[in-house]
Amino acid sequence: MVKCIIIGAGPAGMSAGLYLKRAGIDVLIIEEGVPGGEMLKTNIIENYLGFSSISGGDLALKMSEQIKSFGVPIINDKVTSVIRKDQFIVKTLNSEYKADYVIVAIGREPLKLGVKGESDLLNRGVSYCATCDGAFYRDEDVAVVGGGDSALTEALYLSDICHKVYLLVRKDLRASEILINRVKNKENIIILKNTLVDEFIYSDRLNGVILNNGDKISISGLFIAIGGKPNLDFLNELSVDTNKGYIKTNDKMESSLKGLYAIGDVRDKDFYQIITAVSDGAIAALSIREES
Ligand SMILES: Cc1cc2nc3c(=O)[nH]c(=O)nc-3n(C[C@H](O)[C@H](O)[C@H](O)COP(=O)(O)OP(=O)(O)OC[C@H]3O[C@@H](n4cnc5c(N)ncnc54)[C@H](O)[C@@H]3O)c2cc1C
Repeated sequence: MVKCIIIGAGPAGMSAGLYLKRAGIDVLIIEEGVPGGEMLKTNIIENYLGFSSISGGDLALKMSEQIKSFGVPIINDKVTSVIRKDQFIVKTLNSEYKADYVIVAIGREPLKLGVKGESDLLNRGVSYCATCDGAFYRDEDVAVVGGGDSALTEALYLSDICHKVYLLVRKDLRASEILINRVKNKENIIILKNTLVDEFIYSDRLNGVILNNGDKISISGLFIAIGGKPNLDFLNELSVDTNKGYIKTNDKMESSLKGLYAIGDVRDKDFYQIITAVSDGAIAALSIREES
């Protein structure tokens, strides 16, 4: 039994953990992977205040070392369901925990393109993380699907490893100016606007794609960066208001269910960044401190 359980140790969950612990509130973080969340998929971060340039892995490590130094416990396990009796009961693959408050900080999973063969080609040409898988495509031709900050970050990372990088953009680029300029200055990034992937060309592995204008491009890797959606299956037994699959909260990060908070990328909001995730975490923790 603890006062508060945080599900997920991305920047949102780690920030909430730090603020709760420093407020003297008994807290436990449950994380299914390695602390860091999506930061671990990010090559270089230049917009987190205090670091002019830092790798996602290093920032994740600094955050997890900081919360560990304050004694915030992190358990490595996957939360499978949350139910509400007198308290919340948080069930994991290996155990069960009770808490007065639950903070959901699970981020979101990458959206799929929905093209036939996509799941069969996972790790055989299709990937959702350039930092994780880019090295497998050294000196080869690859493509990135997407036109936002994440897609351009992926394309820039791959352009240093791969021979040619096609950037397949549904309409137009909608990333920050600084990233657009960098991409345009890279000779081996080819931007194809108004472009959709209609079909994969593959046998055992991906060999290429057919685009909506009928053109074929030969690539061995396709990196999909078109956003994400939270997987809220573990909340099925609770009634929590959502909008387009994201948890709705008030300014204190409280969901529609008393005692359940949502922070970071899982929350229905406008801007999905590390700094906004960290801010959400601090607000949720301070709100819980105020209430308890
Ligand atoms: C390629 C890429 C580049 C980016 N670049 C930048 C950038 O330069 N600057 C910037 O500010 N932002 C960037 N972002 C966005 C930023 O990384 C996210 O907004 C931020 O990480 C969200 O934090 P979070 O804590 O809400 O979620 P996440 O970072 O997604 O963390 C969620 C954590 O919850 C865990 N989890 C999920 N489900 C469960 C479960 N059932 N049980 C236990 N644990 C669970 C996951 O393992 C994960 O560790 C980038 C994102 C991507 C994909």
